Amino acid sequence: MSLIVKNMMEDMVERKLDQMLPQLDVCSCEICRTDIICYALNRLKPKYVATSQGELLSKLDELSSTFDMSIVTQITTAAQIVKEFPRHGVK
Ligand SMILES: [Zn+2]
Repeated sequence: MSLIVKNMMEDMVERKLDQMLPQLDVCSCEICRTDIICYALNRLKPKYVATSQGELLSKLDELSSTFDMSIVTQITTAAQIVKEFPRHGVK
């Protein structure tokens, strides 16, 4: 069994953003989505785990419950900023 080093925070933020997008009322284009993820990740501590590919999903669920609140907070803030200053300018 081979183990990989993985920053679970990336997956958690991405997954949470997908869940939250409909309520966030923010542009969901690739640029804005990526900006939100970057903003949130820069303010959250990375969560590295050594895991096997097969265990990734259960690890993700396990950790998500622990970090859910802080992830939601950061994504909400990020979405407000991106909404106010979208990188692709005003359409
Ligand atoms: Zn956009």
